Amino acid sequence: MAGATCPKCGNKTLFNDNRGKSCTRCDFFVEIPVAKGRGRRCVICGKYQVGENGVCRDCGAKHNYGED
Ligand SMILES: [Zn+2]
Ligand SMILES: [Zn+2]
Repeated sequence: MAGATCPKCGNKTLFNDNRGKSCTRCDFFVEIPVAKGRGRRCVICGKYQVGENGVCRDCGAKHNYGED
């Protein structure tokens, strides 16, 4: 299965992964920021709405992830 074209090496080896997209031929990768609606999973409501500050945008639960 061909991936998207990698802008760095030019091969069609850019695949989705858990953080965004990454190239399997070189070290190029794209990370989707958490602020774009792909937060961590909230342990209270189960939605992926926990932002970088640890607060769930849906139910308001605060997760103590600390710095990372
Ligand atoms: Zn590449
Ligand atoms: Zn929540």
